[in-house]
Amino acid sequence: MRVLITGAAGFLGSHLVDRFLADGHSVVGLDNFLTGHADNIAHLTGDERFTFVRHSISEHTFVDGPLDGVLHFASPASPVDYLEMPIQTLKVGSLGTHNALGIALAKKARFLLASTSEVYGDPLVHPQPESYWGNVNPIGPRGCYDEAKRFAEAMTMAYQRAHGVDTRIVRIFNTYGTRMRPGDGRVVSNFIVQALGGEPISIYGDGSQSRSFCYVSDEVEGIYRLFQSGEQMPVNIGNPNEFTVRQLAELVLELTGSRSVIRSHPLPADDPRVRQPDITRARTLLGWEPSIQLREGLVQTIEYFRGLDGSARMQPPT
Ligand code: UDP
Repeated sequence: MRVLITGAAGFLGSHLVDRFLADGHSVVGLDNFLTGHADNIAHLTGDERFTFVRHSISEHTFVDGPLDGVLHFASPASPVDYLEMPIQTLKVGSLGTHNALGIALAKKARFLLASTSEVYGDPLVHPQPESYWGNVNPIGPRGCYDEAKRFAEAMTMAYQRAHGVDTRIVRIFNTYGTRMRPGDGRVVSNFIVQALGGEPISIYGDGSQSRSFCYVSDEVEGIYRLFQSGEQMPVNIGNPNEFTVRQLAELVLELTGSRSVIRSHPLPADDPRVRQPDITRARTLLGWEPSIQLREGLVQTIEYFRGLDGSARMQPPT
């Protein structure tokens, strides 16, 4: 196969590129480096099966040659990023999805949308099955991301129904691991960077809110299987083991051996209280479930961040 992956230099996109290449496929990677980083694809230099195009999928895009798949992963994905770049976030979820679907239609390629657990908002149903419609505040600070992704899902279904494009929708839950940006502001990277630097661990609110953290290799395997499956309705891919933010902080302190203190900060607006995927559909349709639990995944992620220590990537993006 030859596939196009948007957001190819991002955290998840770059791991997905590796997964396709490892199976013998060819990949055209597209990224504008808004939140992606060239280091994430530097190891692919000289690989004949990988072509990189620096471009924003929010602008009209022409891709040479045949394509069997289009996987749309471009988007700011950390709350800190999308609060800083709300318009780019809305554009890549709407115009970017429209452009990526247009490419899939023109090339008769399968399309996969990277959607998110944020479509469930601050959920009133727990854990969240795909049948839940969500509880999203469209005008709150997270609305730019949540509504862009909800629009993207609607646009994907419209292309499936109106144009017969063969589509997939993955709802990605909190994912962590190697190639996360140290400065991207998400909880796992923040806590690890703070613990390794001896800085206070920043807990927002009282830390009783929960998340369910999936290691990146598990996440990518689930997405890869969904792409190859025949399933056109949304599928949650995430790790159902749920932790409070305080439990995560304590685990990071234990595994790093850090003496950082814990410091409380105000809870951001509309921060979901709980989040846990119901992965029944992924289990039954894809035969997939995560295999790496939080402790093991954190050890690998901490090792990665230790290796970055002192490098330019430890600096927050400018
Ligand atoms: N959080 C925190 N400290 C941080 C960063 C995040 O306590 O330094 C909390 C945040 O308020 C949220 C959870 O951790 O409840 C997960 O935040 P993240 O930004 O990783 O992703 P989200 O699931 O909110 O999109």
